[in-house]
Amino acid sequence: MRIIELVSEMQQLADQWRRQGKRIGFIPTMGFLHEGHLALMREAKNRADVVAVSVFVNPTQFGPNEDFERYPRDMQRDVRLCTDVGVDVIFAPSVPEMYPEGFQTGIEVSKVTIPLCGRSRPGHFVGVATVVTKLFNSVKPHLAIFGQKDYQQWVVIRRMVQDLNMDIEVVGHPTVREPDGLAMSSRNSYLSPDERQVALRLSRSLKAAQDLVDRGETGGEVILEKVRDILDSGGGLRIDYVQLCHPDTLEEAPRVDEPAVLLLAAFVGKTRLIDNCVLRPGK
Ligand code: AMP
Repeated sequence: MRIIELVSEMQQLADQWRRQGKRIGFIPTMGFLHEGHLALMREAKNRADVVAVSVFVNPTQFGPNEDFERYPRDMQRDVRLCTDVGVDVIFAPSVPEMYPEGFQTGIEVSKVTIPLCGRSRPGHFVGVATVVTKLFNSVKPHLAIFGQKDYQQWVVIRRMVQDLNMDIEVVGHPTVREPDGLAMSSRNSYLSPDERQVALRLSRSLKAAQDLVDRGETGGEVILEKVRDILDSGGGLRIDYVQLCHPDTLEEAPRVDEPAVLLLAAFVGKTRLIDNCVLRPGK
């Protein structure tokens, strides 16, 4: 497996692969890889001839009071995991390689970035859309796989790829969870054992919402109240948002008589966690 740090070198390899008629699969990540990332890589292996993974903690998608500096990093371990899965190249540029002196361009996707994390994290999705575009222009993939764990990000990238005629197939991969239900995340490493228990309320509240829907409930407010009750039970957790949205437009969904996505974000101690699930009526 190769490790490439320069955009120009990554582009050369991508051009070479394309000349050889190889289908390039790509997984953008911020590293500190876990089983969720590895599942995306395995899916890319199945769907493409060669697989590139980027490891880049992108400063422009973090707010000034967020965790950019302390975001967990372990390149040696990431290299080992990618090698074991059979990844062909890790693209790991430095911050100055991606944002040299004079950089001044941003990609702004409009409506779908306004609610949810867009409201809580101003500037976050401009950072995401811009870095993903730069990574796409470096790796030149035919196919890119994103986790539905970051549901809004997946919607934003799909919108951007369609709006800007990027010739890339965007695939969403279902959220990979710990056996007890907690959605895997590099940020779970911040949690103390007690906080880890509190964090389980996120996935439990989603499960309770689906149970309500399975029993015929369609009222959005009833479902949201149930979710908020579970999140608020016992303290140690501060809700950022709990919302029901249309799965594609992310406009607020008042009812669940069509599939709707339930999205939530909450602080457990200082750690901000997100989770979501698509609620399907009559299931
Ligand atoms: P990150 O390194 O957190 O930026 O994530 C890189 C990619 O992995 C994104 O597309 C995420 O949505 C995806 N991802 C992260 N955690 C999970 C998970 N638990 N299940 C599925 N995909 C995930």
